[in-house]
Amino acid sequence: MMYPQPGMRVLVPLGSKQMTGIVLKEHADPLPTRVRLRDVLVVLDSAPVVSALQLQLWQWMSQYYMCTLGEVLAAALPAGIIDDDYKAKTEQYVCLAPIYTYVRAREELVRAPKQLAVLEAYQALRPSGGMIERRLLIEQSGQSTAILRALEERGILESSEQTVSRIGRYSGEVHPAFPLSEAQAKAAEQIKEEWQKREVVLLHGVTSSGKTEVYIHLIEQALEKQQSVLYLVPEIALTTQLTDRLHQVFGNRLVVYHSRLSNAERVEVYHSLMKDDEPKVVIGVRSAVFLPMKSTGLIIVDEEHESSYKQQEPAPRYHARSVAVMSGHWLGAKVLLGTATPSVESYYNARTGKYGLVELTTRYAGIALPKIRLVDLQQQYHRKEMYGHFADPLVEKIREVLAQGRQVILFQNRRGYAPMLQCNECGHPPRCVQCDVPLTLHKQANELRCHWCGYSRPLMRICPDCGGELKVKGFGTERLEDEVAGLFPEARVLRMDLDTTRNKNAYQDIINRFSRHECDILIGTQMVTKGLHFDDVALVAVLNADQLLNQSDFRAYERAYQMLSQVAGRAGRKGQQGEVYIQTSDPKHPVLRNVIENDYEGLYRSQVEEREMFRFPPFHRLIDIIVKHKNYAAAVRAAVLLHQRLKQAFGERVSGVVVPSVARVQNTHIRMLHLRIENGANVVEAKRVLGEQIAYVQSKEKSVVILSDVDPQ
Ligand code: ADP
Ligand code: ZN
Repeated sequence: MMYPQPGMRVLVPLGSKQMTGIVLKEHADPLPTRVRLRDVLVVLDSAPVVSALQLQLWQWMSQYYMCTLGEVLAAALPAGIIDDDYKAKTEQYVCLAPIYTYVRAREELVRAPKQLAVLEAYQALRPSGGMIERRLLIEQSGQSTAILRALEERGILESSEQTVSRIGRYSGEVHPAFPLSEAQAKAAEQIKEEWQKREVVLLHGVTSSGKTEVYIHLIEQALEKQQSVLYLVPEIALTTQLTDRLHQVFGNRLVVYHSRLSNAERVEVYHSLMKDDEPKVVIGVRSAVFLPMKSTGLIIVDEEHESSYKQQEPAPRYHARSVAVMSGHWLGAKVLLGTATPSVESYYNARTGKYGLVELTTRYAGIALPKIRLVDLQQQYHRKEMYGHFADPLVEKIREVLAQGRQVILFQNRRGYAPMLQCNECGHPPRCVQCDVPLTLHKQANELRCHWCGYSRPLMRICPDCGGELKVKGFGTERLEDEVAGLFPEARVLRMDLDTTRNKNAYQDIINRFSRHECDILIGTQMVTKGLHFDDVALVAVLNADQLLNQSDFRAYERAYQMLSQVAGRAGRKGQQGEVYIQTSDPKHPVLRNVIENDYEGLYRSQVEEREMFRFPPFHRLIDIIVKHKNYAAAVRAAVLLHQRLKQAFGERVSGVVVPSVARVQNTHIRMLHLRIENGANVVEAKRVLGEQIAYVQSKEKSVVILSDVDPQ
């Protein structure tokens, strides 16, 4: 048997079962006497499937994010590697038998015209012989499997089974990268200079400044040095617009790792990266930080402000940006964070000298930033100049744009028809049976749905509490679609939200159709804000900015600014200055002023001041502690007990027991505690103490679940 080394898989007995595990390290010290050891049954690998650096990263993650190593492993390795249910994909091939020449084979087939047709098809595809996929030959010759089999029986064709890769190969053309504009070239130079001094650089470049081209330029230089590149993007930004562009420059050196890959495809990507020494460009979503890349020289985190980089459920509740920065440090790789709207944390790091900062302030090809106009909803309602949720000036503007044959994007960050129904008499909305949230009306499906657990029930019109009449409150994308159909009956409309993009290719499909101008108006949730380029969009409208601003979260203003600036950035790509209309009942709101003036700096200053005053990141680290129980009293009891214990250890650093805005999900009751740890304090020790107290409460309160969320988003 192979001697087990760290990173190899081994089969071990666990109780009466056998399980696959990964060797972490060899125990050098004398073994503790009371531990009962059992033998490894089989060493499954002849070489490690996990590198030493990966193991180091996992250990750091389990400590930093307060979870088990097993939880990190489950997130890090494609399922097929541990379960070993991976099967290589095979394909049937045929080729001309070596003893035959085309001439001889033809002679034999003069009286068998169908078989001859197959032979001719084969010759056309493989003029000098060689293997071809069986099904391809059948397809090309137009003959049946039986005819092909007859040729095999004659011994003219020989068949065989071959292992083939599931990873699609790019067969398009490869072109040199575009030359950088003067501003882009300067930014690239500054980035490289900053890297001389610091490991991480933040590229703050306005929307459409061509950050992708700057990345491409830096990627090329890494490849020339035989270094690989990891390029992280938020889930939704991984469109064919982006991968097509990268394929054009990097051809088959580009590896795409997205969430729609099957387990088997993930295993193949994983193994190919482990084996192959050629430098690669791997573009992928959050979980790509776990891939076993070799000689990584550069890690790019695009749209670094995106909250989808944070994994919420299940553990590890990691932030891919933090993991990228950490692994960059260990790999000796440079890290580039890019965005038009930096997170307050990253910008703070850049301003205080921890990260380098490079600014790209002009859009590519001199396109002007869009002109943003606020529409005062209160005034419009007062004057009765509203058509449904559209104010008069917006309706006029949309008409004008449509008349010019250009396109419109309408942004409303709520899906469904209406976020809730409300009783005319008692004011209660119908709620989910298992969560404490109002149900959302979905009119096309004629249902009420819970956006938290997926529960749905047929639409009702009478209040279940008092028998009053239920009225529609608020509006989502579906209702907007109805109103648009009424206001602009001639316009072609597409809707993009979670409900219309459930099918595998639906998201890409909508984008393609809108890019080809097969529709005039695109209605969407935040999905439409993500780094897409549409050449004909003259107008972007935000139907209600107040919803974004009136959130209780400490990041609400930062998020509102990001979302509004990003969606505004979709207007006026080529040729003409775009326009943005934002409807609001609070036109004097400081965040809206920041958005109009493209004043990120102003937004940042106000946020930093508040965060320092109220003890939020980047001045304090936050850990949310979530207490869950099926039984209401037990949930409260556990939370109160944990609070008492933590109060002793942490004093003012721990909040009281918080009732979250959604305090029951799927019949589980939830309470929370927030822990704030000031910068400079010993975080490792704090986490150890916290872990100890959680374990204590768990030992006292049966079947309570207590989770820690480090750096919650
Ligand atoms: P963003 O900064 O928003 O990520 P992109 O990198 O997507 O901007 O660039 C915006 C548009 O400008 C894209 O269509 C891109 O192809 C084009 N572009 C940017 N830089 C160049 C360049 N140097 N040469 C040619 N086209 C460019
Ligand atoms: Zn529910």
